[in-house]
Amino acid sequence: MDPGLFWTFLVSLHITIMSAESPGQKHGFKAFVSNALRPKKSRQTLRKASRSTTDLRLAARPSVDEGPPPPMPAPPMPELAPLHAHRLKYKELHAQVDSQLGERRDYTEIIHSLGTVGVDDDVGEVYEHNDRRPPGEGDIASLSPKLWARIASFLNPAEAASLAIASITLYRRLGPRHFMALEYPENLPYKITFLAGLDRSLPAHLLCIPCARYHVRTQRGTERLRPTHVLNPLFNCPNSTNALNPPPRHRITHGRMLPFTFVQLTMRAHRFGPSYGLTPDTLGRRWQRDDWSHTSRFHVHSGRLLMRVTSQTFAAPGLTPSAQRMLLFSREDYWPYFSACAHWRDGELMPACKCALEHIPRPRSTGGLQGLEHRVKDRWAGDIFDPNALTTLCGFCRPMRRCPECPTEYLIEVKLCEDRADGRFKQAITVTRWSDLGDGKTPHGIQWAAINGKRDDYNSFQHEHYAKRGIASIFESAFTADTLPGQRVISLNPKNKKLGEKGHDWY
Ligand SMILES: [Zn+2]
Ligand SMILES: [Zn+2]
Ligand SMILES: [Zn+2]
Repeated sequence: MDPGLFWTFLVSLHITIMSAESPGQKHGFKAFVSNALRPKKSRQTLRKASRSTTDLRLAARPSVDEGPPPPMPAPPMPELAPLHAHRLKYKELHAQVDSQLGERRDYTEIIHSLGTVGVDDDVGEVYEHNDRRPPGEGDIASLSPKLWARIASFLNPAEAASLAIASITLYRRLGPRHFMALEYPENLPYKITFLAGLDRSLPAHLLCIPCARYHVRTQRGTERLRPTHVLNPLFNCPNSTNALNPPPRHRITHGRMLPFTFVQLTMRAHRFGPSYGLTPDTLGRRWQRDDWSHTSRFHVHSGRLLMRVTSQTFAAPGLTPSAQRMLLFSREDYWPYFSACAHWRDGELMPACKCALEHIPRPRSTGGLQGLEHRVKDRWAGDIFDPNALTTLCGFCRPMRRCPECPTEYLIEVKLCEDRADGRFKQAITVTRWSDLGDGKTPHGIQWAAINGKRDDYNSFQHEHYAKRGIASIFESAFTADTLPGQRVISLNPKNKKLGEKGHDWY
């Protein structure tokens, strides 16, 4: 139901009840809601008690000028804390469950529970696990096929097919047409959504996105993420060599892709149990390529898979602009060596990396105008050149950056690291990227589609998940006992200019 409609319904219901002044015994649902809207028993008791205390005080008050009044007796200690007592009482009063649907009939209770349960993705699963719901076949059968068809007409193709498959009675009422509708090419995303809903009953299979059907897992339980050049089929798929219909995957770095199948496996295992897939720590990897070293780590938070990729390389001081490009970009495809989301060309990611490289302390030339500038800077900073000095970044390149168009954050650091080759400490640039890969149900999910640049309606600063707390902050607090100090997160693209490859700043 449309949430707006639902609230209008609730408000009108509330008004109807408030205006219905029906004296005497009230029955059924109305009585039950008005019961909930009446002042609470506990409050009435309190009021009565306080009034009686006042009365007692008045009664006990002696006539004028007979000395001071006796001290007030302390009110008796309640057995339970008032809020706890209220909750117990409330539960007892409102624990009425619909005999047919197994759902709470009290709308007040539903609203009440919103405050205590918290709106979270996992709420849906509580209902999924409720196997003790009494059968509602009778009620379903009592509605005509025409009415069910009307109900289904309000649903999208995936929801309508899910409704039709919910029980044999519903299938008889709705017929096969909703399954047939999923076969239309334009309904492919709905077909994937519908099929992904069957995951729970298919632990030995995996939904293949190019085929839109389940295949048997041929490496069940031993699936491992491998470099892109290694053939690593997780099932026998007729589309595996079809270049026109590739499986969805996300580029991590050169030669490293994250196939969507691994997000599926991880999130299935998280939702239903280990036999359905993999744990997030089995996805983490360390690898080296083109003088860059990379480390990836994964973590499930609030029903979604988060990824961190740390990429690092040694950087000499005083690089020329072309040397900076050589360091940051691959000659093969002019992508950065470090891990980046689809929007890395827009905004300030590459300028910030170059700015960070500029801060690496360099030997000073002492002659000429540049030398004078350096001497002034050195005096200003109060230090002399030291190649091992800690590099301090500036207000432009130091802050955490968040891509406004997808759930990805970046942090650029320059620090001293030991070079294993010669055992010396050298300055290295580190670019860390945190991304939310979504719930792994379908590749059309908002997070997965956004980080791959497949949709442009995502606003990471307004999206409920990260409006208040950053992805990096959530990720890091899962691995360290103490919470990180809150860091300023600024937009990767403050001007929101979207030029992509045509832009001038990225290279
Ligand atoms: Zn397939
Ligand atoms: Zn800077
Ligand atoms: Zn992005």
